[in-house]
Amino acid sequence: MRKRYGLLGHKIAYSLSPRMHNAAFKFLGIDASYEVFDIAPGGLEGFFKSLIREGIKGLNVTIPHKEGVLQFIDEQDRGTSFIGAVNTILVKEDGRIAGYNTDHIGFLKALTEDLRFSPAGNEIFFFGAGGAARGCSYLLISGGARNIFVTDIDTERTKKLVADLSTLGISKVCDVIEVPAEKKDLIKKYVSSADLIVNATPCGMKDSDPELFDYGILSKKQSVFDLIYTKNTPLVETARAKGLKAINGLSMLLYQGAESFKIWTGKEAPIAEMRKALGKR
Ligand code: NAP
Repeated sequence: MRKRYGLLGHKIAYSLSPRMHNAAFKFLGIDASYEVFDIAPGGLEGFFKSLIREGIKGLNVTIPHKEGVLQFIDEQDRGTSFIGAVNTILVKEDGRIAGYNTDHIGFLKALTEDLRFSPAGNEIFFFGAGGAARGCSYLLISGGARNIFVTDIDTERTKKLVADLSTLGISKVCDVIEVPAEKKDLIKKYVSSADLIVNATPCGMKDSDPELFDYGILSKKQSVFDLIYTKNTPLVETARAKGLKAINGLSMLLYQGAESFKIWTGKEAPIAEMRKALGKR
């Protein structure tokens, strides 16, 4: 029987994941399909009840369900529990549901291979303290980052991430510093001296969005990673125009998808085919 996979989210018609995974299944001759499951927040329980009956073997999970699906997960690893968000689900042969987070794995691969940035000894400034920032900052600390600065318009989220990262015990050299969103002068100071600036917020997706900070202060020795993958944001465009190394989130999407594919099928993902399907810039 044809195996079913898909993306669980809500209002996600823009997603590029079906293109990417269907190309991979086709290339490897796997009898499977990847579809979009658009489920409103109130419909999660019913969806999970029908998962096995519907022959669904694996899922990616996106906005707004990355945290909500945790209640249906039977097993997860340490990294996933720290992040508190799941982006990949495997329905095992015995019916148990395993949850993973491959976003940060995709982030690290894109960071090192596409942006050619090594976190060791470097200072990193994060805009955003949500699920994506949690996974990415966790990896950067493990990778030897010197200092990590975090700001988010949701102050409680920033405080929680900084507290959680500080008590992890994975690094004695890295300080994690909260920068209040209203302290524009402090943001300017720390952004100016950061080696890497990461946008882990949706700000920049819409043309009407404001600048996260004054992009005029960017300097050539810095690197920029914007997790948004639907377009090159003004942050990426300005950084490139000023001669900085800067990437959008498309490579991260590709590599997190490749990792999910491996979890579902046990096979290495055909990266070149998936990249082609994404129309990677
Ligand atoms: P999330 O959990 O909603 O976290 C984003 C955080 O950013 C929220 O706390 C939000 O606060 C805050 N925020 C919004 N605008 C801000 C601003 N101007 N300044 C400071 N903070 C701001 O989202 P997520 O899952 O972490 O995802 C974050 C971004 O990464 C999204 O754009 C997503 O599409 C992208 N992403 C890309 C990939 C990829 O593969 N490329 C993978 C995962 C995520 P409020 O909630 O109060 O607005």
